[in-house]
Amino acid sequence: MARSIDPRSALVFDIHEFGHHAGSVKEIAHEVPAPEGIGNDVIAVPTSAPIDLDLTLEGVGDGVLATGTAGVQLRGECARCLTTIDASAEVDLQELFLFPGVDPDDAEASRVEAEMIDLEPLLRDAVVLELPFIPLCRPDCAGLCSVCGVNLNDNPDHGHEESVDPRWASLAGWGDDEKDE
Ligand SMILES: [Zn+2]
Ligand SMILES: [Zn+2]
Repeated sequence: MARSIDPRSALVFDIHEFGHHAGSVKEIAHEVPAPEGIGNDVIAVPTSAPIDLDLTLEGVGDGVLATGTAGVQLRGECARCLTTIDASAEVDLQELFLFPGVDPDDAEASRVEAEMIDLEPLLRDAVVLELPFIPLCRPDCAGLCSVCGVNLNDNPDHGHEESVDPRWASLAGWGDDEKDE
């Protein structure tokens, strides 16, 4: 969990001008490139895609409170028809970054480190919470034909003649035999 702040990261912000005064305010309205690996196997933020950060940093005595939103792009694959999904999401961000030495036993707290704060863990957690478990290209995606794999969204009238798969036909035959015995 403990990671050292990397001042070169686009998501690390210098807050030295805050000192330790409550009431200082700084607005951040920035486009930053997405770091690697926000998301999961089925849907994720493309690496380097622009993230629209719109944040207010506020000195609150014990630390710096970051509040705002991040607009992210998402790319994934529809769970039903496997087409590529390009979408966007806006996530709410809020985190209190404690100054070093405040509540030293609180190992979970986000911290101001070397007069900087790192928004990446916060952004990562907020985006992952917003991701759909089962991404769909649209809520009523018709999926693929279970027989031949044709995309049913493009071929709404697609269908097959009633035919019994040979594997099921032979199983049905066995069932009848058992009943006869
Ligand atoms: Zn789909
Ligand atoms: Zn088919």
